[in-house]
Amino acid sequence: MTIPSKMDAIIKKELKKGIWLEKVDVPKPPYGWALIKIKRTSICGSDIHIFEWNEWAQRNVKQGMTIGHEFAGEIVQINCDDTMGFKVGDFVTAEGHVVCGKCKNCRIERQHLCPQTKGIGVNLNGIFAQYAIAPVYNLWKCDPSIPLEEYSVFDPFGNAVHSALSFPLAGEDVLVTGAGPIGILTAAVAKKAGAANVVLTNRSNYRLDLAKKVCPEIVTVNTKEKSLEEVMKGLGIEGGFGVGLEMSGSGESLNLMVKNMIMGGNIALLGVFDHGIPVDWNKIIMGALTLKGIYGREMFKSWQQMNALVKSGLKLGQVITHRLHYTDYLKGFELMASKQCGKVILEWD
Ligand code: ZN
Repeated sequence: MTIPSKMDAIIKKELKKGIWLEKVDVPKPPYGWALIKIKRTSICGSDIHIFEWNEWAQRNVKQGMTIGHEFAGEIVQINCDDTMGFKVGDFVTAEGHVVCGKCKNCRIERQHLCPQTKGIGVNLNGIFAQYAIAPVYNLWKCDPSIPLEEYSVFDPFGNAVHSALSFPLAGEDVLVTGAGPIGILTAAVAKKAGAANVVLTNRSNYRLDLAKKVCPEIVTVNTKEKSLEEVMKGLGIEGGFGVGLEMSGSGESLNLMVKNMIMGGNIALLGVFDHGIPVDWNKIIMGALTLKGIYGREMFKSWQQMNALVKSGLKLGQVITHRLHYTDYLKGFELMASKQCGKVILEWD
């Protein structure tokens, strides 16, 4: 296959609100990296932050960067001797966190907690482009029985799997706050992992309805319409939830969760909060709660678990609601910002 010198890429051309489709050079993989022809990509909430140019994006993203990190594509070039079993023509996705491999955490099998982590599409050039590069170590081979577009949402699915499987779930009553695509998938994983009741809260019905399509056994609650106390009573949940999974980044949701946990319960937190949100720490202390922050996916345990969950029937594809050609990217970004969607896929072929 001949590789062109120029390609289309979605970049942060100017340091203000917006995102631009431009012609840029096709990247050359450094030693240990592969060049991938992109087939499917998916828009993440963090891409919307980069689009809107919030404080986090301003701190992390450099001018001219290609953004995006959720993808599936085909290897067209590998620049290393030990290719770890990968070859040109393989369909792959990749872990988007590039770790140093040398620090204390990396050396004790905790690569996902490497303090030197660089994010593809955030600190490094991303994959909203016709071609992109990734370290061979980060690649994940696509199983032909799983559609490529589903692999393009493995990155956020991995956040869901990592969060949900942080604590034992069998027989537990689980509360998931926030029904964005990751919250929906987290609830579905919790149910599949043997939770007794899984209650998913949100303040919009569109995404609660979508959650029902992904996993009909989830109990959905619009907290603007019904109280959690009422729902717990109806389900016969005694004393509170045993496991809480906070996916919304809303202080109101976290406090609602803390208030409704059983004494000694476990909470995993993935949603990122604005600075200075009030938290009732005494409820956490006197409730003997355990809190765990979640960052990324476990390498590569979460990836193995994702493959297994999809192959054993988790309906990952149901979370995908829109498919657009990449030249319609602005429509995709607007859709994601409106929250009237699940995952939005951009197609590159
Ligand atoms: Zn490291």
